Parts: sequence; structure tokens; C-alpha cells
Amino acid sequence: MFTLSPLPYTYTALEPAIDAKTVEIHYTKHHQTYCDKLNAGLEWTEYSSWVLEDLLTNINSLPDNLKPVVRNHGGGLLNHTIYWETMIAGGSKPGAEFQQSIVGSFGSWAEFEKQYKDKALALFGSGWTWLEKDWDNLIITNYPNQENPLMYWKLPLLGIDVWEHAYYLHYQNRRVEYINGRRSLINWAEVEKKLS
Ligand code: MN
Repeated sequence: MFTLSPLPYTYTALEPAIDAKTVEIHYTKHHQTYCDKLNAGLEWTEYSSWVLEDLLTNINSLPDNLKPVVRNHGGGLLNHTIYWETMIAGGSKPGAEFQQSIVGSFGSWAEFEKQYKDKALALFGSGWTWLEKDWDNLIITNYPNQENPLMYWKLPLLGIDVWEHAYYLHYQNRRVEYINGRRSLINWAEVEKKLS
């Protein structure tokens, strides 16, 4: 059985950038549903005892009838776990070593920020914008629906959920304000932990 990790803060902790009602619904309804549907879809199969990351990494060798379950609901489960983990009330500052990695891959911190924002703004439909590790490089990639970088053998570091359910209650169509809000809440220590 797969389970939801506890939310690392209260529903109100991310206000005003992300409102309490959105956090509550996003976590207790959307995130929980991905978990429930993954459990339902893998019930009575050998895959119900696998580690989630292994399921995503090996998605192409799973039985065809289970691929959509793992792609949509397995991806959804891990994506949201990382989403919550990589936020912290009040935001944080990236460490010097991590900043060097970013500069090495993007040329400057400002260029990284610009690319991340532009990618998230440009994503069409529902999906996620990820900072990910690809061999020795850090890159930013948009993924549709609930796909996760692990399905393409990339290491997920920091994801922005760009589904409308992530921001519409508070921001309606103002995606850029949500993206700015999300960026103000990044838990860099957690991102750095994933990279190391
Ligand atoms: Mn979501």
C-alpha cells in the first residue's frame, strides 16, 4: 500500500502566496486521490509492494495495462510529495555550493530564474515544470499531466505544479502571480539534499 507523506506544515503556513484552502484541497483531495487510485490500480499485483521511485523509473517495462495507472497516479503521488517537501514557510536562501551548480549549468542565477519562470508560463494545458539533473547538467523541462522526470531517467529536484487546481481558487487565471508565489517559498535545503 502506498501512503501520503504528512504535510510538513499547517494549511495556513504558506499564506499569503498559497492560501490555506488551496493547500487543504490540493493535499487532502487531489494528492490523496492519486494515492488511492494507484493503490486501487496495483491491488493484487506484485507491483503493489514496489518502491514508488522504482515503479516510475521502470515504467516502460511494466505490463501495458498498468502503465497508465503508474504514469498518472504514481507520477501524481510522487510529484506532489516533492512539491510539498520543497516548500517552506517564508522561503529560504540557496547555499553557495548549490548556487555554483546553477551558475555552471545556466550561466547565472538570474538566467536560471528567468528560464524557470518562462517555462512554467509557457506550459500548455496541465503539467509540471521541473528543475532536474541530467547527467552532470541541471536543466529545466516541462512535463505533461503527472509525468515525472524519473520516467525519463532524470533526477527531479524542484517542481512547480502548473495544473489550474494548484492556484485557481486564489489566483484565477493569473498564473504568473502563482509562479512568483511558489518561487518565494522554495525550501532550498531540501532541493540541495535531493541533488546530493
Ligand atoms: Mn496538483
